[in-house]
Amino acid sequence: MSQQAIGILGGTFDPIHNGHLRLAQEALEQCSLDAIRIIPSGTPPHRNGLHANAQQRLAMAKLAVQDNPAFVLDEREIHRAGPCYTVDTLTELRAELGAQRPLCLLMGGDAFLQLHTWHNWKQLFELAHIAVMQRNGRPLGNAIEQADTSLRDEYRARLAPAPQAVHESPAGSILVLDMPTLEISATAIRNRCAQGGSLRYLVPDAVAHYIQSHHLYTGIC
Ligand code: ATP
Repeated sequence: MSQQAIGILGGTFDPIHNGHLRLAQEALEQCSLDAIRIIPSGTPPHRNGLHANAQQRLAMAKLAVQDNPAFVLDEREIHRAGPCYTVDTLTELRAELGAQRPLCLLMGGDAFLQLHTWHNWKQLFELAHIAVMQRNGRPLGNAIEQADTSLRDEYRARLAPAPQAVHESPAGSILVLDMPTLEISATAIRNRCAQGGSLRYLVPDAVAHYIQSHHLYTGIC
């Protein structure tokens, strides 16, 4: 398959941090992807109580990707009214990028283990591959044994032998990628802000400056 392969990383990005960016970079390199679309969510179906508003989350994501030409900010979910489901976003991207283009939805192991709770989750495999980051010391193969039965069945049926399998078909495989553990979460970053701590080396400098100058996350405990 000679079509360029595209990775897709969605998230609330409240705020975007180095764990997200490293995840995207690992996928880019391990799967030989051509670009990663970074897609901040609008109104997430699973999450209430976001802290920064949509425009602020978008602005931070823009600052975070500005130095990496392979990372492309995709604003579509931010501008969508009502709940936004990943399956709808992938349907749009598939229509825009063509039926033969390998698409690869990226996520952390924690997100993958909840995949069966996502809207029309089995349809995701008709639209994209799914690349799951397995963090050091937390093999996905062990965690999947405790997971939902239907998720486990999909995992076993779709597991590809290597990350490069993304280039063999447009969609349908599960790829497990290794990633160094970066114990960074947006929750921990928000809490650190509330306590007046530094965000240096947890988020890109430009994002840290944005958070500071807009006084984001200062009142959260
Ligand atoms: P929160 O703490 O608010 O729940 P988060 O840091 O987990 O946020 P999300 O926007 O919810 O960020 O995550 C988007 C995606 O990034 C998910 O697939 C999640 O698994 C993954 N992810 C988040 N943090 C890391 C990390 N440190 N390393 C690898 N993947 C991560």
